[in-house]
Amino acid sequence: MVEPLIYDLSSPGRVGVTLPGVDVPRSDLPDGLVREELPLPELSEMEVVRHFVRLSQLNHGVDIGFYPLGSCTMKYNPKVNEDTARLPGFALTHPMQDPDTAQGNLALMYALQEWLKEIGGFAGVSLQPAAGAHGELTGILIIRAYHHDRGDEKRTKILIPDSAHGTNPATTSMSGMQVIEIPSDDRGNVDLDELKKHCGDDVAGLMLTNPNTLGLFEEHVEEVVDLIHGCGGLIYGDGANMNALLGIVRPGDLGIDVLHYNLHKTFSTPHGGGGPGSGPVGVSEALVDFLPAPIVDILDEGDEEEPPLYGLVKPEKTIGRVKAFHGHFGVHVRAYTYMRMLGKEGLRAVSDHAVLNANYLRVKLNDIYNVPFDRINMHEFVIQGEFKDAPGVHALDISKRLMDFGFHPPTNYFPLIVPEALMIEPTETEARETLDAFIEAMKTIAKEARENPDVLHEAPHETPFGRLDEVQAARQLILCCMPADFQEKVES
Ligand SMILES: *Cc1c(COP(=O)(O)O)cnc(C)c1O
Repeated sequence: MVEPLIYDLSSPGRVGVTLPGVDVPRSDLPDGLVREELPLPELSEMEVVRHFVRLSQLNHGVDIGFYPLGSCTMKYNPKVNEDTARLPGFALTHPMQDPDTAQGNLALMYALQEWLKEIGGFAGVSLQPAAGAHGELTGILIIRAYHHDRGDEKRTKILIPDSAHGTNPATTSMSGMQVIEIPSDDRGNVDLDELKKHCGDDVAGLMLTNPNTLGLFEEHVEEVVDLIHGCGGLIYGDGANMNALLGIVRPGDLGIDVLHYNLHKTFSTPHGGGGPGSGPVGVSEALVDFLPAPIVDILDEGDEEEPPLYGLVKPEKTIGRVKAFHGHFGVHVRAYTYMRMLGKEGLRAVSDHAVLNANYLRVKLNDIYNVPFDRINMHEFVIQGEFKDAPGVHALDISKRLMDFGFHPPTNYFPLIVPEALMIEPTETEARETLDAFIEAMKTIAKEARENPDVLHEAPHETPFGRLDEVQAARQLILCCMPADFQEKVES
């Protein structure tokens, strides 16, 4: 099935909007402002509505079905978050407004900083970074500034376990530091013997994801932290997996010096498709002076009559600004709403249920699929999408076939250290019935792999489009819709 382009539906003279009459004197626009040729489709309002609603129904989303995309925490995003983000006082404030006229917004940002400090066990938080990867870059720049401030310029290496998310080495190289990869041991932990070989006075720090991308709690976290601190380095925590830890473990208490949160994962704002997200960083006492500026602070405590006065302050040795204005404020409002709706006990329950759901799935799947690190996992786990007695079937085939059952595929081929990896993160918002339906689908697929592997190779069968040529789709990305003859003109 191929959906028509909106241009194919166009019919000359058809109109979908009624513009108000002109109530100011007419004047000509300056030359060059209006394009000579701008082909716009001509449709009635109803045709436009039907076209876009139909298109939206071709997509899979968390509001349609299960979305166990490991590491991405595709939990349900409560709609109340949208209500608060749209309150005029939040949505219509201009970022250049005088802080005296935006006290409510600053109060919210301050409260969010405080909640994140408490949740992570940190002394300071900046809300500026736009996403997780951006928080990582900010954190590594903070680590570098810390060493330079002490006159210690020889520390140029960042150690990164081989199970890490690709953004870890990417942000490290963007900061100008050198990446050293540390292998994992056979229980999925950082290999301590290998780590010891690299500890020295050229180490700026280590990036630790805990629980790691295998969904496993790092069993030697204290030893790892002590080894790195012992040689003068700092620990960066990749906090994308905080969904496993809320109210249970505080990274700051484990000795993590700086960590990013993914508000759009753990604290439920819609994500995927490019943002906006938000990746605040939390830091220990030794690093608060280096945080990006500005930070929201209380300038005057106020009293019984006067509310506190909030303002923007600049930490003494700040690495500077990493984002225009104040970061993605709309995401801050959504995350803060989510936290306040759940409260302290509710946040703890989030992690309890996220971990329970993931362990339930692992235990139910581990006699059908190989689970390479078969121990109690946290909020996600990894299985292998291959069978000894069905050698032609790969993880990708299983993922594609899952779409026929109405499920979004798990994360494929990541982490890189597990061949044919399928990384499954159910999240806490899924009911047992959904998990059971997923288990049934996975069992059916395992059976099909032996009996009728072609049904997997040719999957998906039930989606609007069949199997796509992913290489071509990535190389020849078509991002805007134009009539074919206009497209030819633009290209020539
Ligand atoms: C998602 C993720 C990141 C990157 O976060 P973005 O917000 O997508 O930039 C980093 N590390 C891990 C483990 C992640 O899952």
